[in-house]
Amino acid sequence: MPVTKRIPYPSRSDGGSSESPLLVEEGETVGAPHSPRNIHSHSHSHGNPHRSHSYHHEKPKQLVKYGELVILGYNGYLPPGDRGRRRSKFVLYKRPVPNGVKRSKHYIVKTPHSSQAILNTKQHSISYTLSRTQAVIVEYTEDEKTDMFQIGRSSESPIDFVVMDTCAGSGDGGPANEGRVAQSTISRFACRILADRLDPRIARIYAAGFDSSRNIFLGEKATKWQENREIDGLTTNGVLIMHPRGQFCGGEAQCGFWREVSVGGGVFSLRESRSAQQKGNVVEDESNILQDGTLIDLCGATLLWRSAEGLAKSPTKQDLEELVDAINAGRPQCPVGLNTLVIPRKAASDSTQQQPYVYLKCGHVQGHHDWGQEKDKVTRRCPMCLVAGAVVKLSMGIEPAFYVDCGPPTYAFSPCGHMATEKTVKYWEKVAIPHGTNGYIAICPFCAVPLEGTPGYVKLIFQDNVD
Ligand SMILES: [Zn+2]
Ligand SMILES: [Zn+2]
Repeated sequence: MPVTKRIPYPSRSDGGSSESPLLVEEGETVGAPHSPRNIHSHSHSHGNPHRSHSYHHEKPKQLVKYGELVILGYNGYLPPGDRGRRRSKFVLYKRPVPNGVKRSKHYIVKTPHSSQAILNTKQHSISYTLSRTQAVIVEYTEDEKTDMFQIGRSSESPIDFVVMDTCAGSGDGGPANEGRVAQSTISRFACRILADRLDPRIARIYAAGFDSSRNIFLGEKATKWQENREIDGLTTNGVLIMHPRGQFCGGEAQCGFWREVSVGGGVFSLRESRSAQQKGNVVEDESNILQDGTLIDLCGATLLWRSAEGLAKSPTKQDLEELVDAINAGRPQCPVGLNTLVIPRKAASDSTQQQPYVYLKCGHVQGHHDWGQEKDKVTRRCPMCLVAGAVVKLSMGIEPAFYVDCGPPTYAFSPCGHMATEKTVKYWEKVAIPHGTNGYIAICPFCAVPLEGTPGYVKLIFQDNVD
């Protein structure tokens, strides 16, 4: 049974808990610097190390988790390894000091680049250029009720999660890895997420992120409009979101409609093409609040949002490793070589004598052998059922966030051979991921390879060792 992780607020207050947002906020006035360094220097600079054993520090401070952003196409880590802000997934925790911002006043200027709000690098602002001689500037003020997280290709400090274009098939350090994308389509400051410190279940997404000078510029060519005296706009390649219909956890959800989110957080139907001038229509009954399983497409990489609540119901990496162990404990055998097969726990481990392979047409799992090789073809005839088809190495889908339920990994995606639960492969096979500028494809979430065949997965048939 899944262990339900406690989300301490607002469902109950258990008096004196150190993560109470009220306590954190106390004494942190508006205008407190954004950097979390502030709190550290404060608590350590008084220099009595023994104080850390005192009453106030008895309970280790529990971090409040908002959720996780996981890039589709990586099986637990980036091929060269996760480093700093460049990694396969990013966990959003409640910050020690709030750093959110909210919209305040707006006004028209003639030359945005020389206006006070833009020049002031402490002031967050968004500049909407209407013409060469006219721009609307929206000033943003600090919001102690929210935490801001920014995502984009830039490695500058305002970006919390650095996301580069995904190369399909590179997730396990495969051969597709050497080719870098010639021209990235991901914006340097692609989007921002504002999480509600008082209700950690609410995280909203907005297109565009503030740069190092705390500005967002929407140039003359960007799509923008003014309604009810409020100005809004879209970024060049846009930020698309897809909320699943139904609960992600459990596997009953269906792929929803892709929408576009604006700089101001509005939800719109898609433009005719990805960067068309004309915006889509307002979608009234959908919001920019992330749900468990919401996909975020940055045009070059697609991210999965998993809420803290949803993750508590999902398997852990350890659960998945134990499921691999359980299959291996059955000592599956190669019916041709009669040797015992072992599914590697680590995705990237090299092939050994014991490496299992799957026949993608029939699902029979066997070891490495040359039987059934078809002349001048890449396909092979399965010795068990004589069906000819492609053969691929089996490997475990080890990134837990992609699982819609817990259970044995009895299915594999085709053509890559990543193993997962039945409901997980069946869910992802139906999810349409934006591809190129105008199309959609189903992909394996562990390696981003487009699925092939109908269906794009296979049920695995192991031959258990009978002695
Ligand atoms: Zn077969
Ligand atoms: Zn795969």
